[in-house]
Amino acid sequence: MNENLMAFFAPEADPELQALPKCNLHTHLEGSIRPETLWNLAQAQEIELGIPVEAVRPALEVTGEERSLMDYLDKISFTYQVLKNAEAQRRVAFEAAEDAARDGVIYFELRGGPTTHTSPTLSVEAVIENWLQGLRQAEATHGIVCRLIICALRWDSPAVTERLAHSAVNFKNEGVVGFDLAGGEIAGDLVKYAETFRIVREGGLGITCHAGEVAGPENVRYAVEELHATRIGHGVQSLSSPEVLSLLREQEILLEICPTSNIHTQAVNRIVNHPVRLFYDQDIPISIADDDPVTSRTRVSKELTLLQQQFDFDRQQLRHIQQLGLEAAFLQETSVRQTLREKIDAWFPTVMTG
Ligand SMILES: [Zn+2]
Repeated sequence: MNENLMAFFAPEADPELQALPKCNLHTHLEGSIRPETLWNLAQAQEIELGIPVEAVRPALEVTGEERSLMDYLDKISFTYQVLKNAEAQRRVAFEAAEDAARDGVIYFELRGGPTTHTSPTLSVEAVIENWLQGLRQAEATHGIVCRLIICALRWDSPAVTERLAHSAVNFKNEGVVGFDLAGGEIAGDLVKYAETFRIVREGGLGITCHAGEVAGPENVRYAVEELHATRIGHGVQSLSSPEVLSLLREQEILLEICPTSNIHTQAVNRIVNHPVRLFYDQDIPISIADDDPVTSRTRVSKELTLLQQQFDFDRQQLRHIQQLGLEAAFLQETSVRQTLREKIDAWFPTVMTG
């Protein structure tokens, strides 16, 4: 099945779905860097990328030539070399939000793993502050509402993730709204992060967790029952457990679904087998996101167009998914949420289809 793993791309966006006011709850900063920006940042910092300018785009984006999950992940980690820099950190956060705004996203939760981007002169706190400055600039420029989720990474020790949790909580009233655990998932690996998530919960941040992406539904159950996650990153493997599906439905746990990414990371082997329609029809809350929009050459509007074409979602349902996303957003201000709610409710397709 690996031969065409990466030769899948979301369709061009339906202009109506681009105009739909959208909530994007799951985008990684490290998978959002424009190729031209990466080149400029390398030039400005005198970093030798080892490739000519024309090779930067295929180094960052899926081309269809990739042969393994490692090839995909290498595209994301290729960006790390230019990101240990304050100006770069502000710029990539700003541009990620700018690109989301241009796609019609009105509420954006960007996430990133600060521990990868520290240096002797840039602490975890400095990285977070730089990202927040970039997001505030995007809010001022584009009118998009932006919040930040801090990602702990599974290759960091619990001692590191617990310190990170305290740092994230310190930014609670500055724009950090949630905490996540990302990185290569293994069945049963969440146990060692219980203390990390206890700190986050007591600190009052929202909790999401990459779980049930490639490992089984037990990780989803643990994230909900023991880590008190109210949202799950991906969770597509929940499909194999009726008990976990019931848990998600009864506790109204939202799955942050990223269909194209799920193909590129082999979480789902073919798009026709993606469970997004089954989740929706079983009243499990879902949102649709782009995960690594540059790496996977997608945007939320393209993912929604994919749902429309492949799974017969109609436009009212695609709007409903934005409403579900907003209700599960980690945004704290009630008045801001109400303004966003009114924008989504006011949208009406000019052409009724489906
Ligand atoms: Zn993700």
